[in-house]
Amino acid sequence: MPNLDTILHQLDQKARLDADWGQVASYIPQLARVDPAQFAISVVTADGQLHQAGDHGVAFSVQSITKVFTLAIALGRSGDQLWTRVGREPSGRAFNSIVQLEQENGRPRNPFINAGAIVTTDAVLGNRAPREALAEIIHFVRSAAGSGDIHINETVAASETAYGHRNFALAHFLAAHDNLTNSPDKVLGTYFHHCAIEMTTAQLAMAGRFLIHAPNMPRLVSPRRIRRLNAMMLTCGHYDGSGDFAYRVGIPGKSGVGGGILAIVPHQAAIAVWSPGLNRYGNSHRGTEALAELTTRMGWSIF
Ligand code: GLU
Repeated sequence: MPNLDTILHQLDQKARLDADWGQVASYIPQLARVDPAQFAISVVTADGQLHQAGDHGVAFSVQSITKVFTLAIALGRSGDQLWTRVGREPSGRAFNSIVQLEQENGRPRNPFINAGAIVTTDAVLGNRAPREALAEIIHFVRSAAGSGDIHINETVAASETAYGHRNFALAHFLAAHDNLTNSPDKVLGTYFHHCAIEMTTAQLAMAGRFLIHAPNMPRLVSPRRIRRLNAMMLTCGHYDGSGDFAYRVGIPGKSGVGGGILAIVPHQAAIAVWSPGLNRYGNSHRGTEALAELTTRMGWSIF
């Protein structure tokens, strides 16, 4: 068996030599300021051990990775009814695409593109105030991670609200098709805040433990739901780069424009990697490269 700590150390060194780190997300001004040279990787194995290398103590904006947690909560609240409002197919389009929503009459392709996540956020809200829904989301994430030290960065949420014109367009389009039960402003206020949750890779890997499906891991959802969340991550977790991620990395994963990726090796491990520079699909460039090498060297493909 290859030594995991040695591999993580080598991946960290290799990432630091890779000056071609991609573009940091610029459409949220607060994210454009993050130093692209940073890299961190944390792995929790099914025996509960945490292995890591790099800047694993630095908190970053998890952005779309929270869509996994909000989907788990929305399914808990609405059950399969949720699928009447949002589909389960890869979109083959950018994370913030508007055109597909128009072509498909206001039913987003999946819960991991922005339009779909706006619908799941609406389902999590129900008829509650945003602060109650956000309290539930934060509570879920903290319980999953086993850490109370996870917070929303209000400056990032405000920055995204100020520049979130495409998300407002998507939300109003959904409302025009009666696919929101709350006002676009209320849903987006909640959405921008949960996207602005910050975590270290150590906390994120720990938060992914409930998706490993192994004994002694936090039991937050049923085994059936674990399988389904992983299926969604595999097919839709990397926007229009989902096929390439499955091909090269071979396990379920969910990325965020903050440069983080949460990836799950079913029954074996949860991995969080972070490096802010993004590839052309909006997924962490160095994070994806590191995951591809890690799963190859550990023999961790699900196929
Ligand atoms: N908050 C971001 C947005 O809606 C999330 C996008 C992402 O992480 O891919 O634009």
